[in-house]
Amino acid sequence: MDIFASRITTMINLVLFGKPGAGKGTQAAFLKEHFGLFHISTGDLFRHHIKNGTPLGKMAQSYMDKGDLVPDQVTIDMLENAVDENPEAKGFIFDGFPRTTAQAEALDTFLATKEMTITGTIALEAPDEMLIERLLERGKDSGRADDQDTEKIKNRFEEYSTKTAPLRAYYQGQNKFYQIDGVGDITAITQRLITCIQGLL
Ligand code: AMP
Repeated sequence: MDIFASRITTMINLVLFGKPGAGKGTQAAFLKEHFGLFHISTGDLFRHHIKNGTPLGKMAQSYMDKGDLVPDQVTIDMLENAVDENPEAKGFIFDGFPRTTAQAEALDTFLATKEMTITGTIALEAPDEMLIERLLERGKDSGRADDQDTEKIKNRFEEYSTKTAPLRAYYQGQNKFYQIDGVGDITAITQRLITCIQGLL
């Protein structure tokens, strides 16, 4: 193979897809260790900005508190900065991004400028009642306002159904969409993900 072959052949770039509470953050923490990838969670980045009282954090908070999505362009800019800050990464796990078609298209365009591409988009699936239970439980420990209120959780699901669910077809159209059963033991789910990802390499 040409030693100057593009990074497309060597990098693993994963999108972890799924409703709030599906386990994306939990599983990303294991996968990043296993595959040596850099984990970017846009939710975590926004919460970091909020904690530090930045203008971006203040703006994002007004949306997050209601369970609405933050506008595309600021989210895309923040994500691109996070990728740019890690030029040595062997690959990335995108967790909670993209969440709209505009974000998915922007991500493809941005990665292409770096001779990178999405390797696969993996959806963690679990029934809504289980997700709501998990979120309320998490809210007790994390103190996250958006996890503590059933109305806010319902709004987040609504945002998912109207704006994020169409990405399933977007990635299916690229033959990059995979579904994993997100119910059961955390380690069993990690193993399912690892098997799926190994099949992509
Ligand atoms: P998460 O931690 O992924 O559940 O995200 C928490 C909140 O952050 C979401 O409900 C949104 O308000 C905001 N957020 C996170 N990622 C995105 C994104 N890709 N696009 C828009 N808003 C986002």
